[in-house]
Amino acid sequence: MAARKTGRDGFVAVYPGSFDPVTNGHLDIVRRAAAIYPHLVVAVVANPNKTPLLRAAERVALLHEVCKGLPNVEIDCFEGLLVDYVRRRKASVIIKGLRIVSDFEYEFSMALLNRRLQGGVDTMFLPASLEYAYISSSSVREVFSLGGDISDFVPSAVLRAMRRHARGKSGASSPLTRRRA
Ligand code: ADP
Repeated sequence: MAARKTGRDGFVAVYPGSFDPVTNGHLDIVRRAAAIYPHLVVAVVANPNKTPLLRAAERVALLHEVCKGLPNVEIDCFEGLLVDYVRRRKASVIIKGLRIVSDFEYEFSMALLNRRLQGGVDTMFLPASLEYAYISSSSVREVFSLGGDISDFVPSAVLRAMRRHARGKSGASSPLTRRRA
């Protein structure tokens, strides 16, 4: 089946994720996908059933900040089924990053499920770069919450936002906040 084209931007690719927070691993996938597709939509999943660390609006704002040098990258946010969002955006392809083997089983079944739910929409996997293959948002959140240094794993705007967030949550005088300040 022919891939769908949309207007002057040509193929639209959607890179969905929680991005809670966006890491250097995500950013690597964004850069590489943006070099392949004329229009890449980085789509923050705002799942109301989950309690994220950062609000969807904060995650969107951070993505805007860290992707501002990439003119063909759009940041958006959606709720509900990915395939419904992909259909609304008239996108041709879903982008996923694949880290180690453990990502594969889940992502492979999601790709098949999404293709079944929305015929013609396929998933393209980009292998994680070696230097980022071990980074996940959850490990970043965990290391940060325990006072560890996450500066190698996230863009500096994200680090600043995490520090602000921690100060807002626990008060400026908490030991965790003081150690990172
Ligand atoms: P996570 O909490 O695992 O980082 P996300 O939902 O934010 O999860 O991830 C969105 C997408 O980015 C997924 O396709 C995921 O496999 C991919 N991804 C996450 N971290 C990395 C990384 N370090 N390198 C490559 N791809 C990644």
